[in-house]
Amino acid sequence: MEKLNSGAKKLGLQLNPAQLEQFHVYYQELTDWNRRVNLTTITSYEEVQVKHFLDSLTVTLAFRPLLTDGNFIDVGAGAGIPGVPLKIALPEIRLVLVEATAKKAVFLRHLKDKLKLDNVEIVVGRAEEIGHLPRYREKFDVVLSRAVAPLPALAELTLPFCAVGGSVIAQKKGDIIRELRRADKSIRILGGNLREIKHIGLEEFADERCLVIVDKISPTPERYPRRSGIPAKRPLV
Ligand code: SAH
Repeated sequence: MEKLNSGAKKLGLQLNPAQLEQFHVYYQELTDWNRRVNLTTITSYEEVQVKHFLDSLTVTLAFRPLLTDGNFIDVGAGAGIPGVPLKIALPEIRLVLVEATAKKAVFLRHLKDKLKLDNVEIVVGRAEEIGHLPRYREKFDVVLSRAVAPLPALAELTLPFCAVGGSVIAQKKGDIIRELRRADKSIRILGGNLREIKHIGLEEFADERCLVIVDKISPTPERYPRRSGIPAKRPLV
């Protein structure tokens, strides 16, 4: 886990041997399960360290001074990215992983046991439905999401989980200015306010990556999120 370790240091994160071992076990389980369950196309030891693990940890650039506590939720967690690497690096956080695909959720449960993670809850279902449940609605300080939907739809899938005063952090690449312009209305309707686009300037990444940080400034109207599939099909643009 040397690539991860040196990259994490650049982010101001010092990983101890036990944490590096957890990442190692994560890598092994991910590539082992990936033969049966479609979890990732990135499988080489070096690439997983950078493109999955280190990429997840870049989320910490959004909260300086470093936030080490709080309620986090990862929407569309897939194989656990970015939520699980963050939980390994910041063991005090409480984390909910929402994932629509049952098979991936089975992997996440297995991973939680293997890594002996406390205060991690796995919820199988769609964000459009889970986002209406009182247990999860407007309950989180930080809402994470990577590679789930374009921003106009993503705002509707994530902002309902966010407590007023908390923030949504979306990991993005590509033409972010255009995507943001299209998401402007959606973010506003759902109670968000764009705080910052933070560029990730690490040499480890060949492409241009950034964090879109949206603060929750007012409650999300009750009718959102709309029925499953509607946020993506008819985004609030
Ligand atoms: N965040 C992970 C996975 C990205 S793939 C990563 O960056 O590697 C997108 C994942 O989101 C898939 O696993 C898919 O099942 C899940 N997903 C897509 N739409 C969803 C929704 N509306 N609610 C919950 N999960 C969703």
